Amino acid sequence: MLTAHVNHRLVTAFHHSRGELLKLRSSTPAITCPHCRKPLVLKIGSKTIPHFAHQLKQDCPVMHKGESRLHHSGKKILYDRFHSLFPDVKVEYFLKEINQIADVFITSETARMAVEVQCSPLSAAELKKRTEGYRSLGIQVIWLLTEGAPRPSGALRLSSFQQAFLRHVEPLGLFLLLFLPDQQEFHLYQNLIPLSANTFHASTLHKIPVSEFTIPMTTQAPVRSFPYKIWDSSRTGWIQRILRYPTEQAFKQEVYQSGDTLLYLPQWVGLLPHYRIETHPVIWQYYLWSDALKKGGAGLGTIVSAMAARSERGDVRVRDLPLVDQGGCPLEEAVKWYLSLLEKLGIIRMEGGVCRLLQQWECPATFDLYMLHRADFSARFRI
Ligand SMILES: [Zn+2]
Repeated sequence: MLTAHVNHRLVTAFHHSRGELLKLRSSTPAITCPHCRKPLVLKIGSKTIPHFAHQLKQDCPVMHKGESRLHHSGKKILYDRFHSLFPDVKVEYFLKEINQIADVFITSETARMAVEVQCSPLSAAELKKRTEGYRSLGIQVIWLLTEGAPRPSGALRLSSFQQAFLRHVEPLGLFLLLFLPDQQEFHLYQNLIPLSANTFHASTLHKIPVSEFTIPMTTQAPVRSFPYKIWDSSRTGWIQRILRYPTEQAFKQEVYQSGDTLLYLPQWVGLLPHYRIETHPVIWQYYLWSDALKKGGAGLGTIVSAMAARSERGDVRVRDLPLVDQGGCPLEEAVKWYLSLLEKLGIIRMEGGVCRLLQQWECPATFDLYMLHRADFSARFRI
């Protein structure tokens, strides 16, 4: 930690030079934790920035987050940057009401903001709990993940821990913001498109030097439209893979029993992925067709209920995104989005909340017919 009570006065280590701190330490002052009041050690090494530490890590009921070198330097870098933008910035600010310490806390004329640097794995539930704690006090929270994403563009693999930090806001779309203290940079991956449960298509990596970072974020790379070809080949590859391996058996069986051919499913089944749904788009969109649309159409409420029933049975999984506003129903959001795409393609028409099929469900019977269908679809989709 970077703050402590030294002789009953709150001291922030990086506000003093090494010389001053060495002198202070040799005067054997009473150094205690501002939260649990237990004695602390002042550490002045050559590799890390000077900081305080409990004699035993588990000593403190409040300061239980991992305190690595990266975490210490991250907090200092953020403090310095935000201090140049806002007059009131504190480091390791304790909020008694929720028993949480904000790494950096900013009070501006219009808002109160907590900035959290996350260096060690944290469960999605814990992330949600801490976020809700701040929100209950009307405090905005900005989580910064320090773990580097492996590749700058193309398919990006994100662990479930990294995925918990995904946020969604227009025009950035689904995005991940990383903070790399050693490089003095923020890395922004925007317009992420989920290709599978843990692979995402990232358009470009946008690097923001700490000296240019502001809240709210104003710097952003131009939004690039998603190249449909990437999705189409990913979709085809996925269908071929599940046909070859003993996976997704229940789904394959359902397609077979319905008299459809998995290889020749219409292109609008698995048209595009939606970020709130973890299940592969071919699966959830096929279920939507077989439960509601194939029969000629249905009311929006009926379609959403059918998807909710699929979700209860575990056939369709919603992606757990604790930092995405949980206001609406993710299934309804995805269903509405998909139906609007089908409407644009001229496959359905929505009238007073009722969805009508404009052309009969048909799964091409042969390879040649499927290729004709693909050509027709490409013309409609303008790809
Ligand atoms: Zn303590």
